Amino acid sequence: MRIATGGIIHETSTCVNTETTLNDFEHDRGIIRGDAILERFRGANAPTGGFIAAAEQYGFELVPLLRASAFPGGLIRRADYEVMKMELIERLKAAGPVDGVLLDLHGAMVVDGIDDGDGDVIAAVRDVVGPHVPIGVPQDLHGNHSKWRVEVADAIVGYDTFPHIDMAERGQEAGEIVVRTIRGEIRPTMAIRQLPMFWSTRCQITAQPPMTEVIQRLHDMERREGVVSMTVATGFPWADVLEVGSSVIAVTNNDRALAQQLANELGDWIWDHRERWYSPPLTVRDALADGKRIGRYPIILADHADNTGGGSPGDSTEVLRTFLEMGLTDALALYMVDPEVAKQAHAAGVGSRISIRLGGKSSPVQGAPIEGEAEVIALSEGAFAYDGPMFAGLTGSMGTSAWVKIEGVSVVVVCSREQPFDQAFARSLGIDCAKMRYICVKSAAHFRAAFEPIAGSIYNVDAAGIHTHDFSKIPHTKRTRRIFPVEIPPGS
Ligand SMILES: [Zn+2]
Repeated sequence: MRIATGGIIHETSTCVNTETTLNDFEHDRGIIRGDAILERFRGANAPTGGFIAAAEQYGFELVPLLRASAFPGGLIRRADYEVMKMELIERLKAAGPVDGVLLDLHGAMVVDGIDDGDGDVIAAVRDVVGPHVPIGVPQDLHGNHSKWRVEVADAIVGYDTFPHIDMAERGQEAGEIVVRTIRGEIRPTMAIRQLPMFWSTRCQITAQPPMTEVIQRLHDMERREGVVSMTVATGFPWADVLEVGSSVIAVTNNDRALAQQLANELGDWIWDHRERWYSPPLTVRDALADGKRIGRYPIILADHADNTGGGSPGDSTEVLRTFLEMGLTDALALYMVDPEVAKQAHAAGVGSRISIRLGGKSSPVQGAPIEGEAEVIALSEGAFAYDGPMFAGLTGSMGTSAWVKIEGVSVVVVCSREQPFDQAFARSLGIDCAKMRYICVKSAAHFRAAFEPIAGSIYNVDAAGIHTHDFSKIPHTKRTRRIFPVEIPPGS
């Protein structure tokens, strides 16, 4: 049994005004070809890691083609996407006949001129393998699922966790579904129910209420007769595409009516309880006041409006400015993407004092730069190994980076936009997060997996930034449906 694997992986924010290019794919997480894919992802918490585990479990030959992945960012340049897609397809053709395909795709990829980038990759693969070779696709919880991709794939298997600690598990599940289909044991049949709804990030943490109940229902439904897999997707609002929003996908064994009925059942229940997935904005000062009232430290603020994990530039300044205005000490901003200041610190050296304009350079929405004097405490070239649960087994890089102190507030200044969801980002510069009293992370939720063990309290704050959670401010021009909580307001 031969199963091909590959993918083009990107979460695309059309709110960001810089495009994502081939160069970003080459230098971020990389374009990896052939057997190097197996070497890189064996044992890793990534869907491809799960495909490799499935190959070992079921004894099939996994045929690695091409896997390209860039950090979340702006619209992908069309010509660059076509180059990667063409290579993936040429490698698939050159691989000879395969019995199945496992694609590692994010679920919210947008290419200039192609709203559903994921659907486009799946359809191109379908054109090569024909209608009878099963295609399994694990997808992020934050996919904007289209009707098209449900038509061209056989089984979409979404992550059940946020932070995403089950990426390999879902990859392995997709592998199992494809193997059982090849053996003739099942015939996966999908249906989708799209929901006109944007889901507040605070209400998506799968280990906490209210999200626990959604996942519990999902798992209960998966145990019913004839059900192969169920997926809930909370969507990715920062994409200007027609089919933006949340959805439910059901995969049954050869029963389309049952698939639609199950997707509708869970979808209707989510819609009927929509107020529970909405949370009103929280200011930085209100969050800090509440944290101090509780009195457990460190107080961790998730600056989710500038979450680089969603494609944001990572240089918004409101939280750091508030730390400075409040005169906080033992405070850490993790991080500020500012190559200019990172290089300035390297040129000056450890122990020197430099005059800086820090952050706020990518867009006026990100706030004005912080101006003042900073002391250079430590320097790094930025390479580190993840040791938190999410990307365990993988390495990362924040590029040329520095630990600087401004009036007692520590700032990790970096060049690369890899989302700072692991304590390794601070540790690589010699910072012990557990000894801090206030920490700001430019992450929406993924940081929880590695930071919860040391956190006194955690707040998602609504500071100024491109990835605002005031969904009415996102410039959507393509969606046609009235959506909760924008045109359909909470409490209506
Ligand atoms: Zn996600």
